[in-house]
Amino acid sequence: MRPTGMLHLGHYTGALENWITQQNLLLPDGSRAYQTCFLIADYHSLTTSLDTSGLYGHSIDMLTDWLAAGVDPEKSPVFRQSQVKEHAELFLIFSMLITTARLERNPTLKEQVRDLNMDSLVYGHLGYPVLQAADILLYKGDVVPVGEDQIPHVEITREIARKFNSHYQHPQLGDVFPEPEPKITKFARLVGLDGKAKMSKSLGNTILLSDGPDEVMKKMRPAVTDTQKVRRNDPGRPEVCLVYSYHQKFSSIEQLSTIEEGCRSGALGCVDCKKMCAANISSELAPILEKRRYYEERPDLVKAILHEGEQKARTIAGETMREVREAMKIGEVSA
Ligand code: AMP
Repeated sequence: MRPTGMLHLGHYTGALENWITQQNLLLPDGSRAYQTCFLIADYHSLTTSLDTSGLYGHSIDMLTDWLAAGVDPEKSPVFRQSQVKEHAELFLIFSMLITTARLERNPTLKEQVRDLNMDSLVYGHLGYPVLQAADILLYKGDVVPVGEDQIPHVEITREIARKFNSHYQHPQLGDVFPEPEPKITKFARLVGLDGKAKMSKSLGNTILLSDGPDEVMKKMRPAVTDTQKVRRNDPGRPEVCLVYSYHQKFSSIEQLSTIEEGCRSGALGCVDCKKMCAANISSELAPILEKRRYYEERPDLVKAILHEGEQKARTIAGETMREVREAMKIGEVSA
């Protein structure tokens, strides 16, 4: 994740919740199903803003949210891209394995250009998925729990891994890289409070993981619902309603059928429906808020967790780069 500051519900439903599930998943014999690694993509954030003044603070804020939501640093090293130099090194090699035409076809890039009204693109932004491929493959990631917008990037990562393996074989390992699979959830694209685009900080349509109940309700109040339901008793259409899409994630099955019936018959007004939705979101966020306070009061602990994660990441990334150089016969080559 890029350190864009406090995380929002889209990060949570699209990625973070899934990360934690993978982190804690056990096999029948009690061992862990996955070794998980979580990366703060601070170099990636330069693709859309050159202002680095808030980068460190945003990284710590984001890590605090991760820890509050259940990332366990004992199980999953957490680290910044900028502090493990092998990311830049592998990115350079990978940038030789993909054409600019392929990167220009990336639908996520096209969407960003449209949503942010961008009239020009820096070279590094075009290469965003190439750096992401390095982020994933340095740790030999084979499963990547991401939101829907990142699926094209995982596809590019697969192509780069395939291209590398087809050109370079390691004398002992054969293929150096796996071809990773994306792992998405049902809520891999959460729409923002404006009801138009995905929830995103840059579009200002978010509910934050750190928002308390009053803030959640305040943000929910003006949210767009079914535009044909003008008066309280007008029948509504849950399938086109943004608030109902949040209910699908945050409300129980029993509540969902009551809400759907009430909306369709006109018995349930949008204000009451929003109140219920806000309350359910807040009750899911309550334990995260509480754990967040614990870490906010211990900033040195959060920094120590980050530094320890970075040490672990450097060891893994250094080993992979050694294999890459051996496969490519770059540097010292034994006879
Ligand atoms: P980013 O902030 O772009 O680095 O995104 C971090 C992760 O959160 C990625 O896996 C995204 O796919 C996911 N994500 C961000 N916004 C949303 C959203 N509105 N809905 C679902 N997933 C999201």
